[in-house]
Formats: sequence, C-alpha cells, structure tokens
Amino acid sequence: MSVLELARAEIRAMQPYSSARMEASGGQIWLNANESSWLPEGDTGVGCNRYPQPQPAALIDALATLYAVQPNQLLVGRGSDEAIDLLVRAFCRAGEDAILIQPPTFGMYSVSAHIQNAAVVEVALKSDFTLDVDALLAAVTPAVKLVFLCTPNNPTGQIVPRADIERMAQALSGRAVLIVDEAYIEFADTDSAADLIGRYENLCVLRTLSKAWALAGARIGSLLASAEVIALLRKIIAPYPLPSPCVAAALSALSPAGQQSAREHLATIRAQRAVMKSALSNLAGVREVLPSQANFLAVRFDDPGAVYKQLMMEGIVVRDVRRYPNLGDALRITIGTPQENARVLAVLTSPVMDGRTFADASVAEKRA
Ligand code: PMP
Repeated sequence: MSVLELARAEIRAMQPYSSARMEASGGQIWLNANESSWLPEGDTGVGCNRYPQPQPAALIDALATLYAVQPNQLLVGRGSDEAIDLLVRAFCRAGEDAILIQPPTFGMYSVSAHIQNAAVVEVALKSDFTLDVDALLAAVTPAVKLVFLCTPNNPTGQIVPRADIERMAQALSGRAVLIVDEAYIEFADTDSAADLIGRYENLCVLRTLSKAWALAGARIGSLLASAEVIALLRKIIAPYPLPSPCVAAALSALSPAGQQSAREHLATIRAQRAVMKSALSNLAGVREVLPSQANFLAVRFDDPGAVYKQLMMEGIVVRDVRRYPNLGDALRITIGTPQENARVLAVLTSPVMDGRTFADASVAEKRA
C-alpha cells in the first residue's frame, strides 16, 4: 500500500495552483506575473520586485546536502510549523480523522489538528518523560492518520531512542504516517532519523533553521519525506511561501562561514547547558533539573511562580510551562550566551528579602 492512500482523496485528486513563476523560467524580460519592473527603494540586490521561486533550487540543494536526503525528498516552508499544518491538512479529513501525540509536548501539533477539526488522541509520556511505545501503538485506531514524536522533546528535553522510532515506523506501516520532529536534534548526542526515510515510506522528519542555525526570524523549516509525500504537499503549500530576503539569509547561514559560526555556537550552547544544569541543580529552591538534549532546561522549583516573577522583574523572560501535564512546578529556560546565563544564576542567588536569597526564601516559606 502506498502511503498516499492514507491521504485525503480530494487532495490527491486536486489540480494545484500553477503560478507564473512555475510556468516559465529563463527569459530576460519578465512580463508574466504582473510584478513591478522597478526595484523597490533600498533593495540591496535581493530583487524583491519579483516573486520568489516557490521552492528555491539553491536552498533546496543546500538543505538536502545538509540533511543528507535527495532534493525531491525535501519540502521547504515557513518554519516546521508550516509543514506540521500541511501534513494535518493533507492527511486528516475534518470531523473524521485524528492525530496522536504524547503530552507534554510541542503545542502546534494539536493546534493544527484543531484548525482542521481533526481529533487529538493523547498518550501521555511516562513519569520520567520517556515514551511508552506499547501504549502508543495500542492507541492507534483507524482514525489516527498522523503520529507525532518530538525528539528531543519540547518542553522536557529527552530524546526518543532510534530503536523506538524504527519500531513505530514499522508497526505503523500502511496505517499511519510517523512524523519525527527533530527541531532540536543538532543539540543532541544522537543522529537524525532522516536516513530511515528510504526504508519507511510512512516516515517524515521535521528539521528547522530556527534553533541551531539562529534563523528563527527567517522562518525556514524543512520536511524530509518520501518523494511521493513531498510532491503531495507541494500541491497545497502557498504559491510563494518563502520571502526572498529569508532565502538569502538562509543561504548565507548555510555557507562555509555560516556553518563554522553555527558549529561554534552549538559547542558553546552544549557546554553552557552542562554549566547551567549543574549550577541550577545546586540551588536552594530547585527541586530538579530535567536531563536535556536540547537548547533549554526544564527546571522544577519549589515556588516556580515566584521565580518567574523575580526573573521577570530583572528583565529575564523564561517560559512558564506549569500548564503542561507533570510539569506543574516547572519553568523552561533557554540556554543563552554565557553572560545571559550568568545573569539568570545571579538573580536566583541574589539577596532580595531580608538578606535572604530568593530561593532560600521560597524554601523557608515552604517549611513554615
Ligand atoms: N517543533 C518543535 C518541537 C518546536 O519547539 C518548534 C518551535 N518552538 C517548532 C517545531 C517550530 O519551529 P519553526 O516553525 O520555527 O521551524
């Protein structure tokens, strides 16, 4: 059975929009897309008067090389958020189909499902935030078309072992598409699952330039999948999803100099993650720092609300993740520059009340 049989029949059958840029390339005088022939004020050679290529060949090639897949196995869009949305729209019939997720996890899977009126089946991660593969497979009903795995998981930071990914891809073959979200994989000790795409046609991998590549503002995310799935999603992606300045920024980040800079920052972040984990673990008022293979730490505090406020008063914004299951006492702290991280530690150990540190005070209040 082809994986495309899991997709919505009307999407498989539909005729996609054919843009002017798709219908003709080459030529010197472009009068086919109702663009302006004049460059806008301040254009520095990007050529914003013209529509961009729908799937820019140079960027596709650079990303395919980076992720070690074939160019026809890669779709590039506005962050991996867009790929998540496209997958849900292509595979889930409104009011009938479902996705399966493992809370606590990244919020956009269920948001995209809700927009499409697809149901969300939840199988919670175990109390140590590892995956319960048996429970997950047992929850796959015929309505479940997409299963999302996030590795390293946001907001907890743990990875899904490769053996579990393979087991699930195999077990779901012919039943559902397995989507492995590797937004944070560059920070982890494990390799990408992208090399498994050739073996399991129901396997998709999400990658992004928003994290390790410092390009969150450019919104460049990739879906790696079988050529059939990529061709299907190219039918429904917006005609010109990638603004030219964003494509230029991505190509520059992927140049040899850009890659060197990204590698250096990656090494700093990984080293700082260890420094922060150890320093936070020794602070009074910190219950636990969850093991993380991402560029953030989920930290359990005796009084997370007070810590959040104290950091905020000092201008430091962290993510309050207390609404997530099993994380009712946690804040998620991104690893910043060494200076930014030192500020976090300084605030958490600075005397704020009666000469006591903030963390000491929350412990004392708790004991009282
Ligand atoms: N997946 C995960 C796990 C994320 O944490 C995020 C962003 N926080 C995304 C996907 C989306 O990333 P982007 O759209 O910037 O590629």
